[in-house]
Amino acid sequence: MVYTIFERIASMILESRLTLVLTGAGISTESGIPDFRSPGTGLWEKLDPMEALSTDVLYNDPAKFYNEGFKILTSMKNAKPNDAHIILAKMEDEGLISGIVTQNIDNLHFEAGSKNIMEVHGHIRYGHCIKCGKTYAFEIIENRVLHGDIPPLCLCGGLIRPDVIFFGDNLPDCFNKAWEISSTCDLMIVVGSSLQVGPVNYLPGLAKRLIIINSGETMYDGKAEVLCRELATTALNNIYNIIREIKANEKS
Ligand code: NAD
Repeated sequence: MVYTIFERIASMILESRLTLVLTGAGISTESGIPDFRSPGTGLWEKLDPMEALSTDVLYNDPAKFYNEGFKILTSMKNAKPNDAHIILAKMEDEGLISGIVTQNIDNLHFEAGSKNIMEVHGHIRYGHCIKCGKTYAFEIIENRVLHGDIPPLCLCGGLIRPDVIFFGDNLPDCFNKAWEISSTCDLMIVVGSSLQVGPVNYLPGLAKRLIIINSGETMYDGKAEVLCRELATTALNNIYNIIREIKANEKS
């Protein structure tokens, strides 16, 4: 019997006791958000995100950050979850996956209804004052910037920054949880990441079994038991339909 790559992935998910999904910018390109490294469309072709989205620029030249890097964040605001985000939320609901570690800051797993999300690079729901810690909704910061209030300052005089992890920031506590679950999971599925950004790219090395679903090459291709060079929506739609079919057959 010849199995398709999707059937193979479906059976690995059904066999696994604890499956963790690690997502990157590639899962959101089909929602209209450019990733960093896709040739032709990746943000890297237009600017250097390691500079534009760095603590160096944010703290030393906040006006430059709010005039340039901040626009990358606001450009993601109107995107909607695509089938890949929605299927992962359903898979969590049905106990097929335990959670999602995401490098994305775009809120799309959250909007799709996923619950156990470890947003290791932060998100664009809130920001805070670096002096007194006061929380600000991202929309408030966005509005102030839109009206020329650059850089936006808190009533205490401190700089307000988004709750996004920039190059130069420490990772949030949820990264420790992501590390722990990656070390104990049976299966990790990477979806839409080049795995070039550390330290998140250490996580696939901790998992017992590894599947990579990515349209381009990744740093861990050689380590993956299954390498699926498909679009995230195509792969996840196929895998989920096969799992549903298997479950329906089991019932009848
Ligand atoms: P990356 O740009 O380095 O890699 C994305 C990978 O996804 C590429 O290898 C590409 O071939 C693949 N890809 C693109 N579209 C795909 C699709 N539809 N289906 C399957 N694969 C697809 O992204 P990364 O590894 O996440 O690392 C970049 C960093 O950029 C992360 O830290 C992340 O925080 C940040 N980022 C986030 C967003 C977002 O929140 N949506 C967008 C851009 C960058």
